[in-house]
Amino acid sequence: MFAKILDGKMIAKQTLQEVAERVHQRIQSGKRAPSLAVVLVGSDPISKIYITRKCHACSEVGVLFHSYFLPISISERKLLNLIKKLNDNEDVDGILVQLPLPPSINVLHVIQAISPLKDVDGFHPYNVGRLCTRSPAILRPCTPLGVITLLGHYNIEICSLHAVVVGASNIVGRPMSMELLLAGCTTTVTHRFTKNLSRYVKDADLLIVAVGKPYFISGEWIKSGAIVIDVGINRLKNGNIVGDVAFDEASKVAAWITPVPGGVGPMTVAILMQNTLKICEENDKSM
Ligand code: NAD
Repeated sequence: MFAKILDGKMIAKQTLQEVAERVHQRIQSGKRAPSLAVVLVGSDPISKIYITRKCHACSEVGVLFHSYFLPISISERKLLNLIKKLNDNEDVDGILVQLPLPPSINVLHVIQAISPLKDVDGFHPYNVGRLCTRSPAILRPCTPLGVITLLGHYNIEICSLHAVVVGASNIVGRPMSMELLLAGCTTTVTHRFTKNLSRYVKDADLLIVAVGKPYFISGEWIKSGAIVIDVGINRLKNGNIVGDVAFDEASKVAAWITPVPGGVGPMTVAILMQNTLKICEENDKSM
């Protein structure tokens, strides 16, 4: 058996086209373009690549992109001051602070300083709390929502499946588990302290891996016919980008699988654009 590919690149392109169409209609009707402020502290090359992708996506869909490149030595107070200014700026819809931040800055302070209404990444405790409590959520974390959107495009019914999430970070694993619960999955979350991880992985109808270790999940662990979502993005010494799942082995066993690159990554950026537009549309209502 060879798994069918969940083509995130293609579905992200469709999603971006839909966003671009709605932005175009706004501008035609005399409304302003949505805008996204992106803050980078330091000069981490991988973070710069992510920011470049976000910038390209903005220009593709007609979202205004404002970047703030700050030195790695910047104090937390100065960064919080910038966030306050962006919160108060009516021309800014979404605010995104690129992670990771240097150890001198407390990431939780920064995320909590972003207005929940401009929290385009969906990381603020207010937005995460809404997701956890099944309150109608406007801003949901981009990667987990990207995964749900991708599965939806392929009409894959996930209600009642046993979903196993490997990795429990604030930005992927935890909100992913909440999205899966919301979708009616029986959800198991595993992490670095989980004993006998393969036991859980082998029982997964839907496996979502976000660990950050190349080829961490071997094909032998995967249940026949499983849906495998590989969130991991790992750069090898030779420059190749690979996921957390041993793709060649896994695709012989799974029913569906996401490639890396071209799977979850493009979906994350597409949902970021969707979230930026949503904030802008909400701002119209409050005017
Ligand atoms: P993180 O380092 O914050 O979290 C990693 C998680 O993996 C932790 O919860 C940890 O407990 C768990 N883990 C570590 N070792 C483990 C082990 N031996 N067994 C089980 N669990 C283990 O990372 P993150 O920010 O969640 O990112 C994870 C991966 O996803 C990275 O490769 C990152 O680049 C990628 N990522 C991709 C996207 C995307 O759009 N595709 C978005 C965000 C992150």
